[in-house]
Amino acid sequence: MSFDFQMIVDGKSVPSGSEFVVHNPATGQVVGHAPEASLQNLNDAVAAANKAFLTWRALPDVDRQGALVAIADKLDAHAEELAQLLTQEQGKPLGGMGSRWEVEKMATWARFTAKMSLPVEVIQDNEAGRVELHRKPLGVVGSITPWNFPLLISMWHVAPALLSGNTVVIKPSPYTPLATLRAVELMNEVLPAGVLNVVTGSDAGAVNVGAAMSSHADIRKMMFTGSCATGEKVMQAAASTMKRLTLEMGGNDAAIVLPDVDAKAIAPALFWGAFINNGQTCGCMKRLYIHADVCDDVIAALVEFAAKVPVGDGLLEGSQLGPIQNQMQFDKVARLVAQAKESGKVELGGVPGEGLFFPPTIISGLSNANPLVSEEQFGPALPIIKYSSIEQAIAMANDSDNGLCGSVWSSDVATARNVAGQLECGTVWVNKHGALQPNAPFGGMKKSGLGVEFGEEGLKAYTDIQVIMS
Ligand code: NAP
Repeated sequence: MSFDFQMIVDGKSVPSGSEFVVHNPATGQVVGHAPEASLQNLNDAVAAANKAFLTWRALPDVDRQGALVAIADKLDAHAEELAQLLTQEQGKPLGGMGSRWEVEKMATWARFTAKMSLPVEVIQDNEAGRVELHRKPLGVVGSITPWNFPLLISMWHVAPALLSGNTVVIKPSPYTPLATLRAVELMNEVLPAGVLNVVTGSDAGAVNVGAAMSSHADIRKMMFTGSCATGEKVMQAAASTMKRLTLEMGGNDAAIVLPDVDAKAIAPALFWGAFINNGQTCGCMKRLYIHADVCDDVIAALVEFAAKVPVGDGLLEGSQLGPIQNQMQFDKVARLVAQAKESGKVELGGVPGEGLFFPPTIISGLSNANPLVSEEQFGPALPIIKYSSIEQAIAMANDSDNGLCGSVWSSDVATARNVAGQLECGTVWVNKHGALQPNAPFGGMKKSGLGVEFGEEGLKAYTDIQVIMS
């Protein structure tokens, strides 16, 4: 069966002149086709969103809150269909923290956001006058999403944008456009025309849709999630129109294991902190620093757990990890692992599998200079670095241009929190890694991004401030 979806512009399906093929990374087979947008398609989508903005922004909060609940209900009703589609184009398993989890979280995020609002703040009200701070929606928000969590990340962009009165044009990655096309089609069944539009395109298309969005005169904000290199391009392209920006980019998260841990007890959470979504997660563990006193024990426990995790086609119910999503990423992981093997010790895996499958790989004996440590691998290969003093571990963890997330592992939570506060990154977990929640702001320090998503801070980023003094 081949899935063929169309772009949705102004509430209607739009035929496109050409299309591109989407492959299943587990089998190489064709999953379906997505439309190749023209510049006219993009301009039409932005114009529709601009027109819809005039009425959408004027609605009372309660109407937009209700729309998000209706979106969540619609997604719940089509959850299995979306999960099956997502697994086929992305490769992640249906079960565990795979496609079903991602679709469920999409609805959860919409419902949580539906409870939020940004009421007028009264800064001053006395005989000298009244000063009010109003939050005004911006207009059309351009959303660009990556291929690792295409559905969940689309909701991270769409829900706060819509709630705060903006309208949206979304562009998914060409590796994973199908589930987003279908989800936007479904959401349009409960939204007014033009409020949420989707356009798709690939490298082979006549126009780079993401680049055209980033410089588009009628888009007021770019909400970008993807690599650091592309985020920089979005920022440059957005400058001349003074777009508001939220940039969620790459991470190279360090985890520090202190000498007082129970190795066997932490092994499962350490594993999933690094290998969730096959390591293709912005905020997953990408460098593991272990104190010399417990290094051998932690490695042994981690390898014992990892060796039993089933890897396979995501459509098979038992699979807990799928293939790497695309050839470019597979080649990057293979290169970094090959380089790491020259100086490190392979504790597990290390040899590429068939097609795009790559076994969970753990390599010890590395230093910060090794490319598997210093670059974002974004795949199922975890480097381990042994340390002897906590100061040394903190310095190595902070020795990175990235600053997305990190974690500290210890049976003494107070000590762990103290170390956490010394890490240069936007989120630090204690005894876990990768847990995000809709009420906690999430964003990167240093080159990992600009601004935050989630919570009130994230919502405010979809507005400009207007002060009224009377
Ligand atoms: P990517 O290559 O940067 O692509 C992301 C999106 O940007 C795609 O839709 C891509 O579409 C588009 N794009 C490419 N060139 C563009 C341009 N010049 N202007 C505007 N948009 C352009 O990233 P990816 O490989 O999909 O995702 C992996 C990266 O995302 C990793 O670095 C990961 O850490 C990061 N990530 C970060 C977060 C976070 O919240 N911080 C979350 C998830 C992922 P085309 O392919 O059509 O060009």
